[in-house]
Amino acid sequence: MPPAAPFTRQSPRTLAALALLLIAVFSATGWGLWNSYTTREARFRHQVEAGLNAVNELQVSSVAMWRARRVAEAGMLSDDATLADATASWLSGRHPAEELALRERLRSLVERLQYSNAWLVNPQGRLLLAAHGARRGELPVAEQQALARALEMAVPAVVGLRSDQGMGYPFYSVLAPLFDAQGKALGAIWLVMNANTTLFPLLQTWPTSSQSAESLLVQREGDGMQVLSPLRHRSDPPLSLRVSPKGAKDPVAAQLIQGVRGTLQGLDYRNRQVTATVGAIPESDWLIVSKVDSAEALSDSEQREGLAVLLIASLALLLTGSLVLLWLRSAWQRERALKHDLQEHMLWLDAAQMAAAIGYYAYDTATQRYDISPTAAEIYGFADRTSVSREDWLAAVHPQDRDWVWDYTGQALKERRALRMQHRIVRVSDQQTRWIEVLGDFMQDASDTATRIVGTMQDITERKLTEERLEHYRQELEAQVRLDPLTQVANRLALDEALAQEWARAQRAHTPVALLMIDIDLFKSFNDHHGHVAGDQCLRRVAQALIQSTGRAGDLVARYGGEEFAVLLPGTDEEQARVVGERLRQAVRELGLEHLSGADGHPITISVGAASVWPHTQPAPGATQPSGLELANELVHRADTALYAAKAQGRDRVASWLPGMGQSTLFDLAPPTTLQ
Ligand code: GH3
Ligand code: MG
Ligand code: MG
Repeated sequence: MPPAAPFTRQSPRTLAALALLLIAVFSATGWGLWNSYTTREARFRHQVEAGLNAVNELQVSSVAMWRARRVAEAGMLSDDATLADATASWLSGRHPAEELALRERLRSLVERLQYSNAWLVNPQGRLLLAAHGARRGELPVAEQQALARALEMAVPAVVGLRSDQGMGYPFYSVLAPLFDAQGKALGAIWLVMNANTTLFPLLQTWPTSSQSAESLLVQREGDGMQVLSPLRHRSDPPLSLRVSPKGAKDPVAAQLIQGVRGTLQGLDYRNRQVTATVGAIPESDWLIVSKVDSAEALSDSEQREGLAVLLIASLALLLTGSLVLLWLRSAWQRERALKHDLQEHMLWLDAAQMAAAIGYYAYDTATQRYDISPTAAEIYGFADRTSVSREDWLAAVHPQDRDWVWDYTGQALKERRALRMQHRIVRVSDQQTRWIEVLGDFMQDASDTATRIVGTMQDITERKLTEERLEHYRQELEAQVRLDPLTQVANRLALDEALAQEWARAQRAHTPVALLMIDIDLFKSFNDHHGHVAGDQCLRRVAQALIQSTGRAGDLVARYGGEEFAVLLPGTDEEQARVVGERLRQAVRELGLEHLSGADGHPITISVGAASVWPHTQPAPGATQPSGLELANELVHRADTALYAAKAQGRDRVASWLPGMGQSTLFDLAPPTTLQ
């Protein structure tokens, strides 16, 4: 089972840095926006106020001029001697022609100076003549009082703006006193102006179009205020809106009553937030309040501001978005590159594992299941399975290996050490016995509870066979090295090794070691007579006879060289050696290989020299225990000496080594007296 590719994640440090960057960008943008918003709002508010001031000043001056002109016009009438004369004349005689002339004068006055009407009144306030219509009667009370003032002061007297049931409109009137040449009061001209057509339009002149802009003409009335002009946003007739300090819910009016002038903020009669400028008309108790809804005044600028805010916010978002996109893109590219690399490596790994026939597995101790790679499944003959139970796994192990594999794996699990084993399986698909090598290491999760063994397995059957063949070959070679090629008996090397080995054993067991040296008699002449091929054949026959006559375990027949043989007889003393030598001599003789070199034609015979030595527990004084090699040399020397003696005694016989034959000074190898 291929391990899941670890998903590439951004490190927490990168994420934190990005989050910090985002917070910084948003904070800076927010702070910048708020700062710019507040300064710009203050600037726009200032602009609105400046505009309102300008309008207010304009209206105040035009209303002031309007008032002054009315008074001036009235003054001119008072100073008009012709008018006074005509009036005096008409009053004295009431002549119709003079009345007509006077009326005409009044009419022209009204039309020229845009009064709504003009009356000639007598000093008592009786209406005498009208420019238009024929209203009779008395002056209203306010005008009566003004008349009295005018006559007394001899200057025009103004009656403030008011409405009267007799008039159909709010009006403003001036009483221009008339005196004859002697200074006698003749009465006055009562000039009436319709405020709707003359005064109020002055307030409705705004330089800009606005849905809410409005100027109100107000005046103090007792301790309250009265609105004189019509309201733009309400249909109430002019002069109908009064505000008392008690009922002054409207903060703008309250501020006016308190005497605040200049620019105000507050609620108007509609309870709307307004920005207002208040200006006083000189020489009057009139005030002009020019106001505009704050929302509307700032809406334009706010809209622009909003657009700017939107623009900057969009830019900030764009920047942030771009950063995030850039980051995501680089992360995605990194991940793609990693995935690509990983896939490539996995392919290489798979290919390499296929080629090497290496499968991999992961054993989960919790589920007791093996997840296996396709190659592992193929090795076991599990078809296309990717997961097998522990029981299925074990069932596939060769019956002769099953127990130790189970024990070994269990022990490794217990001790949490690496797995290294080679065992046989019976391949599930075709029941073929295969060798596999299993390697594994432990992997623990963080909690240290669950454990997995993850490792590889390889089919090593071919390797095993090769190893077996090699071993066999090696053993054969080993044997060849120690075998004489001609006679197929042991060679000198084998004899030397066996001698050393047997000497060691003899030392441990306190047993003798004997050696027979054998030489074919007169073999030279046999060769000369029969040729070397026959000589070789003769050597093989003699060797076979020697082998067949030495049956004891440990006995070793070796070709010592040429036509000489040596026979090693472990555990054999001198006497027994001699017996064996005799048996061998007899066996060769019985081969009946005809010599044919001499006239007598006797068969091939051998001469045998026998020697036997004992290892001593205590070497003799001045002597040391011989090594294997030293023993071999000594034993061969002694047997050789004995052989020489046998030859000398006439051949075809066995001679034992005797101390007199030339004892080595190094060794005391005589039989121990205690053991004999
Ligand atoms: P003696 O009884 O004194 O031993 O007489 P001998 O003729 O056997 O004398 P010697 O040992 O000197 O002669 C050995 C002869 O053995 C010489 C050689 O021709 C023969 N020989 C030695 N090795 C081989 C061999 O491998 N094959 C053959 N065919 N002959 C061999
Ligand atoms: Mg010889
Ligand atoms: Mg010989």
